[in-house]
Amino acid sequence: MADSDPTILQVSETIFLNTPDWLASPCSSCGTYCCSNLPLCDLSIETRNDLLYLADICWFEGMVPVLKQDGQWRLFYNADCRFLHKPTAKCIIHNTPEQSNICKTYPPDRCWYRKAFTSTETDLLLRFNGVRIERMITLCRFGEDGEILEAPGWEMLQKEFAGLPFFPTSVPAPPERMVQAEKRTRGRERGPLFLFPPGKPQKPEHFDLLRFRLGFPGVVLLTSFTLWCFALPAVFKLQVPPDIRRTLCQRLEAGVYDELIVGITEHERYLLKSGAFSRIARYAELEGMPGLQTVPELPEDTGRLTC
Ligand code: SF4
Ligand code: SF4
Repeated sequence: MADSDPTILQVSETIFLNTPDWLASPCSSCGTYCCSNLPLCDLSIETRNDLLYLADICWFEGMVPVLKQDGQWRLFYNADCRFLHKPTAKCIIHNTPEQSNICKTYPPDRCWYRKAFTSTETDLLLRFNGVRIERMITLCRFGEDGEILEAPGWEMLQKEFAGLPFFPTSVPAPPERMVQAEKRTRGRERGPLFLFPPGKPQKPEHFDLLRFRLGFPGVVLLTSFTLWCFALPAVFKLQVPPDIRRTLCQRLEAGVYDELIVGITEHERYLLKSGAFSRIARYAELEGMPGLQTVPELPEDTGRLTC
């Protein structure tokens, strides 16, 4: 195709540039926010301590808490999907069987990611780092037991955060550090993990979610006969001072951050952290798993251009 059409430049087996279709797509003028921001879980933030622990979580690579306009807190993993070709902002497995249906069928003309992530304060979400959380704490009113009685409104937060830059303390997690840590979690030296829902797949689309999430560096799946969950190694950012590292380690071991993550019970957490589980980092590894005879085929791609 690339040889016969001068408007098409083939960059790799699956990447074609400068096609008229590509230029007409909203993705051709976008920062590929959908390939660099993986939604992990909802967060439960009820008290002053929860906010302080949330600030701690920002010391780990890739962890970005956000507040959505509907009031829901959510944790995102800011890392580039390993299939993203950064220089061209295109997907190297575009439209191949390896690409998840989530990516194939996502509608770029109604894209939530672009609206939400195009700047750090949008009308859809606010991104947080430690400094912003500390500022938010000063604006909240707390009860005697530290429960949040009153939180600042959306517009006030947008205004406050305009003077507190997000970017200097937040860059995508370095893939090589996350992959290295992922390998450690698969070997004997098992470092601390953050655990995320959902559990064992029940429907074909859950397998598609596995395929999608396992594309991000460091993400692993913990599986046993009955319990499954996603996990990410807890990797300190390089600039974390030693005394703060010590405190964070103690809190990690005590499980205080786990309490903020919605969707995994305390009992499951205990079993998943202490038990003998398979650790899966590639979707293809699932197919050889005992007890899982068939991985359901997903419907054919409907022909989307990108993402
Ligand atoms: S789907 Fe397209 S427009 Fe939306 S974030 Fe991804 S690349 Fe950008
Ligand atoms: S697999 Fe999906 S998330 Fe990864 S680069 Fe391709 S379109 Fe983006």
